Amino acid sequence: MTIDDFHSNRINQKSADNSMSNLPNAISDPCVHCGFCLPTCASYRVLGTEMDSPRGRIHTLKAIKQEELVMDKVIASHFDTCLGCFACVTACPSGVRYDQLLEETRPLLNDNKLRNPCQSIIRKLLLNFLPYPNRLRRILQALRFYPGSTLQETIRRLGISNILGPQIEAMEALLPPLTSKNFNDNWKVYNPAKGKYRGKVGLVLGCVQRCFDPDVNQAVLSVLVANGFDVVIPNNQGCCGAVSHHQGQINQTEELANALIKSFNSAIGPNKPGGDQQLDAILVAASGCGHTMKSYGKTINLKDKLKTSVLDVHEFLIDKGLSKEFKASLGELSYLDDSNEKNENIVEIAYHDACHMLHGQDIFMEPRELLNLIPNIVINEAKEAGVCCGSAGIYNIVQPEEANELGKIKAQDLTDTGAKLIASANIGCTLQLRKHLNKKVKVAHPLQILACAAGLHDFPGLIQSRLVPQISREGENW
Ligand code: SF4
Ligand code: SF4
Repeated sequence: MTIDDFHSNRINQKSADNSMSNLPNAISDPCVHCGFCLPTCASYRVLGTEMDSPRGRIHTLKAIKQEELVMDKVIASHFDTCLGCFACVTACPSGVRYDQLLEETRPLLNDNKLRNPCQSIIRKLLLNFLPYPNRLRRILQALRFYPGSTLQETIRRLGISNILGPQIEAMEALLPPLTSKNFNDNWKVYNPAKGKYRGKVGLVLGCVQRCFDPDVNQAVLSVLVANGFDVVIPNNQGCCGAVSHHQGQINQTEELANALIKSFNSAIGPNKPGGDQQLDAILVAASGCGHTMKSYGKTINLKDKLKTSVLDVHEFLIDKGLSKEFKASLGELSYLDDSNEKNENIVEIAYHDACHMLHGQDIFMEPRELLNLIPNIVINEAKEAGVCCGSAGIYNIVQPEEANELGKIKAQDLTDTGAKLIASANIGCTLQLRKHLNKKVKVAHPLQILACAAGLHDFPGLIQSRLVPQISREGENW
């Protein structure tokens, strides 16, 4: 169906719903219908319909604003297929801010009349658990011995999770192995720098990241401390609001953001556990969280504000530079193959660009530059680095068919680089990639790889094999 057919079906259906008057005024944005955004659009890629493209959605919003269309279940479903990846914003030569249009449209989609009951319930359930680590851990506790068990193998082989519905099947497939580390937040609030002191930062743990892949936060902490930074981790910190922000749940996002701000602000000061001196920055190691936190006070209204800026950990480390001592500690990496034999050849890595890092924060070179400091690393570039992997917050649970297609495409693109190790700086992408990649291809956070090369961190199948004499790295200027 073309957009014109679609309009002719619905034209003159005047809106009786006043809530639709909130639709963005920015729909007069200068979309010239050139279609440059289409090849980069993940939903258009797998669905192939104009209504599931940025151009189609912009056109639809304009028609709604002009009261030629009403937001109904069908139209809402075409907005639900959007991943919010913002690849279209990067691609658009006319500067159309589809990200702003989507941000203002998403709250409207949460009207129960616009989704079927199953979709509404699953979204409510996810938003009641994912942003709350204690609640999430209670569920994970019940599943503690399930991942990797014979029961899981049998359930998968017989397709039982599929019988329970594609959303349940998607959740089951994303479950990581669970150890005691997934259930504990044994972080010290104040973690003093090692070596020459270079500053003081706060670290955001993330709600999903700390429960699903806690080693990432440990690696980030080790790298920061080893580079001379005091690190403050408020022990009462919760979710930043990214998951609810992505779903247009404004009130919940503001509530979570206010609580996170309070936890950081109240950790610093005279006689406070984080010490008297203010933080130079608050660092984030998951790009979805970083993107949302950088919106605090801009598109997200708050009671209070953070007393320092929010930065992605890669951009912070590139800006400050790694310490001489840390760079000197970087050794060659080796893979361990299935028989635990070392493979000391060049380690080929593909860096996966998370959308909220690349399109949302304009961070492209920084993680690559950090990885390139490891002596025997080569970064192989994927052909379609700017296209979403299908994770997109809870998208891979609520839109599992589209997400699976995108996950397979991304896994193939990364595998085609020949890399055996994928670097991913967003927990959602990491889980999605692990689901779709061959088990021989591992996925780690860039700072896990860096920490491993510095001998600070273990990552299964990857070891620091040899320190390179410092003279071989002379000439580096930072
Ligand atoms: S959004 Fe931008 S790239 Fe896409 S059709 Fe409109 S003007 Fe072209
Ligand atoms: S945000 Fe991503 S999925 Fe949505 S319209 Fe833009 S490119 Fe397509």
